[in-house]
Amino acid sequence: MSNPIWFNPTLCLIGGAWLPSASQQTITMVDPSDGSEICQIARGTDADIQNAVEAAAAALDGDWGRKTALERGRILTRLGQMVLERVDDLAQLEAMDVGKPLKQARADAVALARYCEFYGGAADKVMGETIPYLDGYTVYTLREPHGVTGHIVPWNYPMQIIGRSVGAALAMGNACVLKPAEEACLTALAFAHLAQQAGLPAGALNVVPGLGAEAGAALTAHPGVNHISFTGSVATGALVQQAAGRNVVPVTLELGGKSPQLVFDDADLDVALPFLVNAGIQNAGQTCSASSRILVQRRVYEEVKARMAEAYSELTVGPAQEDLRIGPLISIRQKEIVTEFLAKGADLSIAGRGRIVDHAPDDGAYVQPTLFADVPPDHILAQDEIFGPVQVLIPFETEEEAIQIANATEYGLVASVWTRDGARQMRLAKRLRSGQVFINNYGAGGGVELPFGGVGKSGHGREKGFEALYGFSQVKTVAAYHG
Ligand code: NDP
Repeated sequence: MSNPIWFNPTLCLIGGAWLPSASQQTITMVDPSDGSEICQIARGTDADIQNAVEAAAAALDGDWGRKTALERGRILTRLGQMVLERVDDLAQLEAMDVGKPLKQARADAVALARYCEFYGGAADKVMGETIPYLDGYTVYTLREPHGVTGHIVPWNYPMQIIGRSVGAALAMGNACVLKPAEEACLTALAFAHLAQQAGLPAGALNVVPGLGAEAGAALTAHPGVNHISFTGSVATGALVQQAAGRNVVPVTLELGGKSPQLVFDDADLDVALPFLVNAGIQNAGQTCSASSRILVQRRVYEEVKARMAEAYSELTVGPAQEDLRIGPLISIRQKEIVTEFLAKGADLSIAGRGRIVDHAPDDGAYVQPTLFADVPPDHILAQDEIFGPVQVLIPFETEEEAIQIANATEYGLVASVWTRDGARQMRLAKRLRSGQVFINNYGAGGGVELPFGGVGKSGHGREKGFEALYGFSQVKTVAAYHG
């Protein structure tokens, strides 16, 4: 394979110029499929963040701030088209950078294009309202951008998360400073190059790669940032919220989950089975909305266990370029985290395991997909987010018990219900403590149109759909007295 990096990856984008970090330092990017070095990226610092925030503020006062909603939408739509034209290049970059099997990486690039199209089309369709008020007044509201928005993006779905947060923020007229994850910068940089080519004015999007504790912390603490969007771990999310609190700015936090699928004994198991497994192992389980808990009604429990075990026996894990069902994890560090979790399941019975291909490089970050059976709902593997290809099966007897178990974690991002009983579908949709509930499916194909976000420690605020546009704007009330 020829080198898919078509740009200089060691630079930051600040105010329309590609510049080395003020520190002149770089970070080594590693291919998790084999542990080889890919390239160096900039190690952004406080000074780079300072310059990026200033550049974003200047863009708001300049060309970008003067663009109409229609013009912003056209740029985003054009950008979506350019992303579509480079889908295979972006997929190659992502496969190398984060170890994502090519088909999954390609799907992420297509989703990025779709976010640009959706938010491009929506930019001029967000409206204020008029409010009937006292005699002699005309009152209306304006939806205005926050100003400078900070975007801290993790490594698991860089393209999709950039699309849903930066896309919506730009549509509303904000100017963005993006800090990609240190382990996954390449598609963020590629996207920024395409955005420039699509005509996005200087400073509307600034990208400062670097370490979370340096560039990330500097961005969240910067008093010139007016809104922060963060996706990642609960621990870092709490730090981000504290930093935002000191500057009294709003945050959107998307912090993952322990999402359940509830399988009742009247479910169509032939339809459910592929979703039960795929929702847990997609992207090697490194998905905020991964379904890591499968709750099954006792009467069909043994059948579901046997069929899932069979599906696991067919799972193969290997290098991203081979495009198997599962690639490596993002890093050796993540492999260690997942391996420690697997060790904590030593007291549990294993129903099924996938297979790492024999020729997988020793320095790749591979783990064996594992399905645990008969797991007590309060077991650590049924409570903590593992972020690897690991699922637990939990039996239940009654609907009430299923609801209690489903709601008994600190998280609440996604849940799904498999049943043919319409009344039960409606009851559970209301009672499950979750930002999204799916009935007889899981994820509904990812839908950029569908508001997404969590309750509890899964975070707060909503991204995707029109909700994101409301989140990336604020209402100004104008009350005119004219007698
Ligand atoms: P983090 O939450 O630490 O990283 C997410 C993003 O935050 C990255 O861009 C990171 O930068 C940045 N960051 C890190 N520290 C700070 C800080 N002090 N201030 C501002 N930004 C910061 O997750 P990890 O990568 O460490 O992964 C650990 C665990 O987090 C995973 O095992 C998984 O459970 C969970 N996670 C959840 C995700 C989700 O989609 N909900 C996504 C990723 C992880 P950098 O990468 O440079 O450190």
